[in-house]
Amino acid sequence: MEVKNEKLLRRSQLQELYGQMGISPQVYEFAAGIEEALKERFMAIDDTVEYNQLKVLGAMQKCRVDATCFAATSGYGYNDLGRDKLEEVYAAAFHGEDALVRPQIACGTHALAVALSGNLRPGDELLSPVGKPYDTLEEVIGIRPSRGSLKEYGVSYGQVDLKPDGSFDYEGIAKALGPKTRMVTIQRSKGYQTRPTLSVERIGELIAFIKERKPDVICMVDNCYGEFVERIEPTDVGADLCVGSLIKNPGGGLAPIGGYIVGKRNYVENAAYRLTSPGLGKEVGASLGVLPSFYQGFFLAPSVVGGALKGAIFAANIYERLGFSVIPNGSESRHDIIQAVTFGKPEGVIAFCQGIQAAAPVDSYVTPEPWAMPGYDSDVIMAAGAFVQGSSIELSADGPIKPPYAVYFQGGLTWQHAKYGILMSLQKLVEAGLVKL
Ligand SMILES: *Cc1c(COP(=O)(O)O)cnc(C)c1O
Repeated sequence: MEVKNEKLLRRSQLQELYGQMGISPQVYEFAAGIEEALKERFMAIDDTVEYNQLKVLGAMQKCRVDATCFAATSGYGYNDLGRDKLEEVYAAAFHGEDALVRPQIACGTHALAVALSGNLRPGDELLSPVGKPYDTLEEVIGIRPSRGSLKEYGVSYGQVDLKPDGSFDYEGIAKALGPKTRMVTIQRSKGYQTRPTLSVERIGELIAFIKERKPDVICMVDNCYGEFVERIEPTDVGADLCVGSLIKNPGGGLAPIGGYIVGKRNYVENAAYRLTSPGLGKEVGASLGVLPSFYQGFFLAPSVVGGALKGAIFAANIYERLGFSVIPNGSESRHDIIQAVTFGKPEGVIAFCQGIQAAAPVDSYVTPEPWAMPGYDSDVIMAAGAFVQGSSIELSADGPIKPPYAVYFQGGLTWQHAKYGILMSLQKLVEAGLVKL
């Protein structure tokens, strides 16, 4: 009896504070029921966090990380031991041969552009067997005409779409693999699309199919938003290169910039010669003072990703219950940290994003509006009140203002913050009259 009273007291204290923080009792109660039903799934996520924490810890121990790794270098950055060791740690954790992990990689798009242009030569063809790639890659490849694109350098592009049910079009892929096909790009996450995200296992099946027909083709996976969601990574199932951004999952919220490329040594080196210069490759590139945040962020990343995943699942279940279309749905397995919710009208996307912004630790008092972001072909609204600008492992949401008016929600450095953000998004939708509880 007393235990029950204590629990009720704790809960009413919490509800009161949520009330002071702008969450109405109706929103709180509605969400509490949904959270209760997710207990078991959350426990399974904690198990994966534990597994991946050990994986990262093991890599750091194996590479004998020590305090000298955290020193800053300047100038050319010759003999930057901390930088080189961090690359060993990434290679060990991803089970790759080598890695490039650098603050000179400006973002995920840059990491992908470096991996592609470092490994493709004029006359080669790049193939995407999983449909249209992420919006910013369209300009890298030259799908949309763009200065400096691969197309301008004589690299052609082929694409095979997924079938309407989301499965691979194996027949089409076999036909598209020609003598010029040098590289295949596989995007794990759905990005701004409503197709399902690929599991690592499915990526492995696709790579096996491709390598059977053309063993020398380089298989690259755009791993953005996928790191540490599962216990294996694409490099565990045959990917030659795996690429991502440090202001997403593997930076753990602490890395202030950066990207990584991990995989087969030869291909990582080719990327390094493109990032810096032919002849210089991995040998230059001072780490300035960022290495402690790269190491510590990578160490925290499994746990941060676990919190973000809980937030995504919580949001899916809330908005599914309210009758909106959500991808992934409330019960399916997860392969990235992104949650799409389709509102069908701009007002829903805008209210949702304004709620996420209002819940932020930084810039919570500003109101986001749609704008024409470089690299995107429609106006986009972005909510991000982050410690690292534009970081999307921190709680963030964005939506292109075009049909079907879906919002893409991700991140949260802690589950508790992700939860508050989702409650606030719902609060804004209720206040705008777009949702009735
Ligand atoms: C974020 C993302 C990118 C591009 O990364 P930026 O850091 O925004 O340049 C590429 N592919 C996917 C799937 C992404 O999610």
